Amino acid sequence: MGNDITKPLENEENTDPKNSGYHAGFVALIGQPNVGKSTLMNRILGVDLAIITAKPQTTRNRILGVRSFPEKGQIAFVDTPGIHRSKKQLNKRMVATALAAITEVDLICHVIDADAYIKQMARLGKDEIPASEAFIFRKLAEVEQPVFLILNKVDKLDAKEQLLPLILDLSARFDFAEILPVSAQKGDNIRRLVEVILEHLPESDPLFPEDMLTDQAERFIAAEFIREQVLEQTHEEVPYSVAVEIERFVDNRDKNMIEVSAIIHVERTSQKGIVIGKGGARLQSIGTKSRKRMQAFFGKKIYLETFVRVESEWSEDPEALGRFGYE
Ligand code: GDP
Ligand code: MG
Repeated sequence: MGNDITKPLENEENTDPKNSGYHAGFVALIGQPNVGKSTLMNRILGVDLAIITAKPQTTRNRILGVRSFPEKGQIAFVDTPGIHRSKKQLNKRMVATALAAITEVDLICHVIDADAYIKQMARLGKDEIPASEAFIFRKLAEVEQPVFLILNKVDKLDAKEQLLPLILDLSARFDFAEILPVSAQKGDNIRRLVEVILEHLPESDPLFPEDMLTDQAERFIAAEFIREQVLEQTHEEVPYSVAVEIERFVDNRDKNMIEVSAIIHVERTSQKGIVIGKGGARLQSIGTKSRKRMQAFFGKKIYLETFVRVESEWSEDPEALGRFGYE
C-alpha cells in the first residue's frame, strides 16, 4: 500500500497558518461511471463502505462517508452514481442523484480515469473532449464551489509523462481549484489530497460525531453487500436488473448475532435461474461471500437467508424504484 492515511497528519510538513483551525464540510465525488469514486472514498475512510466492482453503475445511491482527523478537521464525502446518458428510469434517477449532490456541498471532486481518458482523447484527436465529459464540464460551469480535478488510476499509465499534457489540456478548459493525480487503489498521493481538501473546507466545528462513519442504515449496507456479490458473480444484463430488499434485519442480542432476511429481485425468470445457479450453487456462494462481508463490517456473526423473486420491469416502475430506495 502506498501511503498510510491512518497515521496522524501532524507529521506532514504543513506550515500553512490558515490550516491551524478545524475545517469541516461536505465533499461530493462525481464523475463518469467506473472512474474510481467509491474506491477513493473507501480509501480515505479506511473502511469498505461503498461497494466496488469492475462494472459500471455499481453505485446507485448517494452514500455519505465521514472521516474525522482529530484536531484537524472532518470530511463528509458524498459518493454518487456515475454521470452518464441513459433513457432508463433507474439510470435517470441515479444521474439526478449525482447532479443534486453538486449543489449541496462545500467542495466538488471531479474524478477522471486518467488512463482511460488519455486513450479516449488519443482516439478523438486534439481539440475534442469526450461528450460524456463535456456534459459534466457544462454542469460544473454552473457551480460556485471550488472544484478539484482528481486524475485517478495513475498506476495504470504507461508513463507518468503522459500526465502533463492532460493536466494542461484540462486546466485550459476549466478553472479547477486543484488538480491532483492519485491512485485510489494503491493509495498514491491520497494523504496530499486529504490535506488539500481540508485546507479548502470552511473553518467549522465538526458536522458529525467524530466516531460516525455514515448515515446509511444498516439495512441498506447489508443490501449493498449482497448486491455487490450478485454483480461480481453474474454477467451481461443481470447486474442491471437486480435490486436487493432487506425484509428483516434483527440484532439478536441473546445470540450475539444479526439475523438478516433478504430478497434479491430480478426482472425475468431466466435471470432468477442465473442468480440461483445449478443446484442453488451461485445463490449459496452469493450468500456466503456477502455474509462474510457483513460479518467483517458489523463485527458480529450474521445469520443470512436469501430469496430470489421476479419483479418484472421494476427498474422502469416508479413505485418499485421508490420501494427499493432509488429516490
Ligand atoms: P466508481 O464507479 O467511480 O465508483 O468506480 P469504482 O470505485 O467502483 O471502481 C471501478 C473499478 O476501477 C474497480 O474495478 C476498481 O477496483 C478500479 N479502480 C479504482 N481506482 C483505481 C486505481 O486507482 N487504479 C486502478 N488500477 N484501478 C482502480
Ligand atoms: Mg461507485
